[in-house]
Amino acid sequence: MIEMPNCIGCGTTIQTEDKTAVGYAPPSSLEKDVVICQRCFRLKNYNEIQPVSLTDDDFLRILNGLGTQQGLIVKIVDIFDFNGSWLPGLHRFVGNNPVLLIANKADLLPKSVKPKKVINWLKREAKALGLQPVDVLLVSAHKGKGMAEAMEAIDAYRKGQNVYVVGCTNVGKSTFINRIIKQATGEGEVITTSHFPGTTLDMIEIPLDDGSALYDTPGIINHHQMAHHIDSSELKYIMPKKEIKPKVYQQNAGQTLFIGALARFDFIQGDRSAFTIHVANDLPIHRTKLEKADTLYAEHKGELLAPPTADFIDQLPPLVRHEFSIKEAKTDVVFSGLGWITVQHANVVVAAYAPKGVQVSIRPSLI
Ligand code: GDP
Repeated sequence: MIEMPNCIGCGTTIQTEDKTAVGYAPPSSLEKDVVICQRCFRLKNYNEIQPVSLTDDDFLRILNGLGTQQGLIVKIVDIFDFNGSWLPGLHRFVGNNPVLLIANKADLLPKSVKPKKVINWLKREAKALGLQPVDVLLVSAHKGKGMAEAMEAIDAYRKGQNVYVVGCTNVGKSTFINRIIKQATGEGEVITTSHFPGTTLDMIEIPLDDGSALYDTPGIINHHQMAHHIDSSELKYIMPKKEIKPKVYQQNAGQTLFIGALARFDFIQGDRSAFTIHVANDLPIHRTKLEKADTLYAEHKGELLAPPTADFIDQLPPLVRHEFSIKEAKTDVVFSGLGWITVQHANVVVAAYAPKGVQVSIRPSLI
């Protein structure tokens, strides 16, 4: 049997039989020096995704194999979607291997955010979720910020062993690894990156100079991520592309703010207060009276309250209410994958609504 090559884009083994399965490439492509699967080809050239029949079990099976390897696990999370991008079962499949936690997309945070506060928050959250990372770093793989430190840390903690980079889809894992390859070898983009969740398939091996290797593992799809409830054509509105510009709203109790049709924030009780919204700059925010909010949402979601627009509003799970009694001034109410609202004053009661499954939590303000 001839050995099939691996796709240069996603690393999966090429096959030429089944057009609907992972790794399909037309037979003629085997004659080329480098082979790219049809899915990556389309993604690269037309920026469109083809669904493939790879299940969650397949992802878990591959990741489970990590427990039997020895090396440094580099876990990447999206700073903007911390809970949504967390891999809850990670400690079960890493065995005794050390974990380096890297939070990506730091460039989206407003300049006023203090990196040290972010790192402390990440450390607390990781611990609360059962993970004891050897270190926590904040980077922007896209801009290259913090990457030199990240590479130094990887080299120091791996102690001559292999490196396994894990993360759920869309955290920027491919961008991160491409950046490492580029800095190490001077080569350009090697691994496919895209706006769409779920583009990296089998493990890709990148040789390191001491005979060990860095492995890019497949991105796990976390189904409760906000991004999976949004049509790919509308993702660009909710995923910030640039540094977030905070917007301040002075509110009285009894007022409601809608972020598109994706989230709702009721100010229930407390003195007049300032609320600072940190979401993608182009997301429309709509202010109304609390008593009118239910009717407004029922009648105008998908239109006045958008995104999602009318074509996609039915895909959005119903909003779930989370009430918080906030004692401390400067508390963030975090909508995972969407952003956060800083409550500037103490002693207020608020209710935050997000689509079912999307986590809402509070933390001391990062600013
Ligand atoms: P993967 O699925 O984890 O491999 O993620 P990709 O590398 O394909 O990136 C997913 C999306 O996040 C793409 O739209 C990237 O442009 C974007 N992205 C990746 N890294 C960064 C970053 O550091 N900052 C920002 N703002 N976006 C990033």
